[in-house]
Amino acid sequence: MDKDIATPIRTRTILEKYGFSFKKSLGQNFLIDTNILNRIVDHAHLTESSGAIEIGPGIGALTEQLARRSKKVVAFEIDQRLLPILAETLAPYSNTKVIHQDVLKADVAEVIQAEFEGMDDIMVVANLPYYVTTPIIMKLLEEKLPIRGIVCMLQAEVADRISAKPGTKDYGSLSIAVQYYTEAETVMNVPRTVFVPQPNVDSAVIRLTVRKEPPVKVKSEEFFFQVTKSSFAQRRKTILNNLTSQLPGGKEKKEQILAALNEANVDPGRRGETLSIQEYAQLSDALYPHFQ
Ligand code: SAM
Repeated sequence: MDKDIATPIRTRTILEKYGFSFKKSLGQNFLIDTNILNRIVDHAHLTESSGAIEIGPGIGALTEQLARRSKKVVAFEIDQRLLPILAETLAPYSNTKVIHQDVLKADVAEVIQAEFEGMDDIMVVANLPYYVTTPIIMKLLEEKLPIRGIVCMLQAEVADRISAKPGTKDYGSLSIAVQYYTEAETVMNVPRTVFVPQPNVDSAVIRLTVRKEPPVKVKSEEFFFQVTKSSFAQRRKTILNNLTSQLPGGKEKKEQILAALNEANVDPGRRGETLSIQEYAQLSDALYPHFQ
């Protein structure tokens, strides 16, 4: 087996050879601990027939471990300076492919179709660039890609918000959006010392397992998400106040909003963070006819 990329010495040697300098603006914090990488990959439950999509391979530390434990890895990397490095570090792994693209602009569905033909178990596994964690996760989920799930490293604070339950300080529209599409769990906390350079926030790994069906059926998904976002606009305000101030024409429709809250059995004095996804679904369906 080839020498691991993710050791402090090998990483430093590679970076020095290419005169690579980290770009903070691209969220470049590379992993230098093979043990942590293996544990991340363990959480993805890959098999020899799995396909893996990676976002931001860096110098290939995680890509290498994925290549050893799956059938094929396709990695999106935005930074052109990393391409010659990846060509060298991933040369021993013929089952890897690097696509030079901003993942937020990529047609991931098309890439899946072209690169993973005939493969029915596809996981996204990544140490995400922290400046775009939420947009990347939401893009992958909203596009309803044919993936089993996502295992990714991100800021511990965002991991807490994603997996938060109703009634907690971290619960918000992000928790609801992600939990609508997936079962979300934090599976690991990761110390700062396993990165170069060390990030100035704590990190965690989450596993998002895509649901076959959403946990609630709603008349309009778009409106459901609009209602949840509106309800958390100002956390200290009541749900009635947030809905009247945030929904389009809400101020003129206070009576209808009150009627919908009543129909959904939600006390207008409650705060957004106390409602479950089921209650939001009932409320959004009761409000929907008034906002057509
Ligand atoms: N996977 C490597 C590791 O664990 O050592 C590097 C992870 S580093 C946190 C994030 C990587 O994402 C960097 O290589 C960065 O250049 C890349 N990146 C940043 N923004 C990106 C984007 N929008 N699309 C694709 N890659 C991106």
